[in-house]
Amino acid sequence: MLCPNCQNEISMEAKACPKCGQPILGQSSPKSRTAATLLCLFFGVLGIHRFYVGKTGSGLAQLGLLLFAIFGGGLAIVPMVFGAIAGDMGAFAGGGVAYLAGLASGLILSFWIFVDLIMVICGIIRDKDGRRVDRW
Ligand SMILES: [Zn+2]
Repeated sequence: MLCPNCQNEISMEAKACPKCGQPILGQSSPKSRTAATLLCLFFGVLGIHRFYVGKTGSGLAQLGLLLFAIFGGGLAIVPMVFGAIAGDMGAFAGGGVAYLAGLASGLILSFWIFVDLIMVICGIIRDKDGRRVDRW
């Protein structure tokens, strides 16, 4: 087979290319499936399981969705309540839009974590080098 990085011929058993060090796809990740499953189950909304397998970018995206759901959605109730009390419909509507956006990001995050949990349990999630995290 050929190294996907440098195109040198390498053995089928190689865990990494001897020429350039590129890890070879199809190999198991050294990361623990047990740890990834527990992290996703208990700290999934923080994106911790994605940081664990090295997917920092999507982990940060999940963390961002959580912060937006909490601060965008949660704190939006303040202008909504005070807007309603003071009869300021602009503040009420603005808070309402922020609340719905926060609610939407919370729902997107929940669905994403649910899909992640299934992928982690089934051992089909991949680490940053494209190797499956399939060893318990
Ligand atoms: Zn190579």
